[in-house]
Amino acid sequence: MIMVFAMIGAIWGIGAVMKAPRRGRWIMTFVLLGVVILTHLVLPADNALRQATGGDARLWLLLIAAGILIKGYSLILRRLKARVQPVETQAPRKGFTETELTRYARHIMLREIGGTGQATLQGARVLVVGAGGLGSPALMYLAASGVGTIGVIDDDDVDASNLQRQVIHRDAWIGTPKVAAAKQAILELNPHVKLRPYHRRLTPEIAADLIADFDLVLDGCDNFETRYLVNETCVAAGVPLIAGALTQWEGQLGLYDPARGGPCFACVFPAAPAPDLVPTCAEAGVAGPLPGVVGSMMAVEALKLLVDAGTGLRNRLLIYDALYAETRDMKTKARADCPVCQGRGLHVT
Ligand SMILES: [Zn+2]
Repeated sequence: MIMVFAMIGAIWGIGAVMKAPRRGRWIMTFVLLGVVILTHLVLPADNALRQATGGDARLWLLLIAAGILIKGYSLILRRLKARVQPVETQAPRKGFTETELTRYARHIMLREIGGTGQATLQGARVLVVGAGGLGSPALMYLAASGVGTIGVIDDDDVDASNLQRQVIHRDAWIGTPKVAAAKQAILELNPHVKLRPYHRRLTPEIAADLIADFDLVLDGCDNFETRYLVNETCVAAGVPLIAGALTQWEGQLGLYDPARGGPCFACVFPAAPAPDLVPTCAEAGVAGPLPGVVGSMMAVEALKLLVDAGTGLRNRLLIYDALYAETRDMKTKARADCPVCQGRGLHVT
């Protein structure tokens, strides 16, 4: 028996030295084992060669069966491992450099995004209204995530009182336009995306032309006049809107997209509250990290909407109460008597 093992060892040892293919070595091993078994079947029990090679064919058959079982088990394990890998791990076919593939690798391995989703993000155009508390994290995560074209409109300049929460701006940029600061921060974060800065207030004269250029709008502005204008323009253009708002310790966000079902912003908030009832951040204060939470949620919802992943905030208003560490989810509904969308979203299934 030792002789047979020595011969198998020689096949693999000499094969390794001569760099013979593994397949050839396996064939030689099986031929050798075949000859051994044949020897046991043909020769009488007391034959010296048969005695020297183990004495019984069943022993060799058992060894071969054990080998086949081990190989089969490892094959099954490999198949199972392959099955738990995300379905879509292929890289985008075109349009990405090696550097970008490395940058977006953690997205590409997500089943819900993958290579196709990342290419969709690269081709997407998202407008962010306001480069303030909500706009800061939203802009940074959209850029980091690889949204190819990002617009930002804001007429304000960076002020020292912004820096407690508007994390896209830097101390050295106080006094410069917020959109210029945002552009610099984003290009430093991800030079592979385009940022279109608009240093002006969003007015009815420019809203329609501007919003028509984008696939999605994120509204993080700080006044109701702009909020309603953004909603009206988005409804007219059929562009989905993700709007967030903050006060002191509480934030909220929702998706308003009647063209594809659900309410518009005016369905849920029919009238702006009297100015003295809803104080601004400047009047009432706001916890520094709160816009970070809500603005980041807006960016997550934007990504999900763009790549069509999961369940979004259509017909829902998500409220986050930071002071008590609670979230609430309110059902919202399109209204047939809404003067902006006329309940268009009620008829979309
Ligand atoms: Zn409406």
